[in-house]
Amino acid sequence: LIDIADLTKSFEGPQGDTFTVLDGIDLRIDSGEIVALLGRSGSGKSTLLRIIAGLIPASSGKVDAGGAPLVGANPATAMVFQSFALMPWLTVQDNVELGLAARGVGRDERRERALQAIDIIGLDGFESAYPRELSGGMRQRVGFARALVLQPDLLLMDEPFSALDVLTAENLRNELVELWTQDDFPTKSVCIVTHNIEEAVLLADRVVVLGSKPGRIIHEARVRMERPRDRQSTEF
Ligand code: ATP
Ligand code: MG
Repeated sequence: LIDIADLTKSFEGPQGDTFTVLDGIDLRIDSGEIVALLGRSGSGKSTLLRIIAGLIPASSGKVDAGGAPLVGANPATAMVFQSFALMPWLTVQDNVELGLAARGVGRDERRERALQAIDIIGLDGFESAYPRELSGGMRQRVGFARALVLQPDLLLMDEPFSALDVLTAENLRNELVELWTQDDFPTKSVCIVTHNIEEAVLLADRVVVLGSKPGRIIHEARVRMERPRDRQSTEF
């Protein structure tokens, strides 16, 4: 699904110097896999997600998406952000439709798919609300709906629960697990960045730890053997 080999990423510092954030990253995410990405602040987790999404280019190395080198935005992915990143001037419905519009989906299909995603994620009745009228948990539901409506092969989540209070986070997390164990859930592969080790072990098949300076994979462990759809939701 995504195959990264010997990837490096450098940025230019304020004095025009370059510093390397990611150095020699090898990472493969297979179809159906749920990978949790851990690592301390500044280790390059968000940078790696952005590269996988095709939002920024790698400095060197190979990024293959489904057998082809990745050029520009990766249409097989959708991203959920820590700070929701909703458009405040758009309603819930329009926020969810935005990515579809960008991908050239026509109005009727956009509307239909958005309503479906809104329903699945528990936002029924909030279609015409604006983000400012919603609680943090509801806003992140919009974030999820906006990503899921794209039916990505790989769902990228950058600390999706960390801006929420503990109970709201737990509810949303459990609901999500419930959803993605269902056969008709649009995405089967997930890469989730988290600082919460318990969350990583709970959600993921495989945990990958990034070390910083240099930003390399320092630990990798399979934490669950069976495929997510085989899991019993009662486990949680
Ligand atoms: P956190 O856990 O705090 O979110 P992170 O692991 O996601 O951290 P990144 O946001 O990927 O870390 O940042 C890694 C390093 O790259 C940091 O030192 C950051 O300052 C730097 N960096 C990220 N984006 C840019 C950019 N566009 N220009 C310059 N430096 C950047
Ligand atoms: Mg980050």
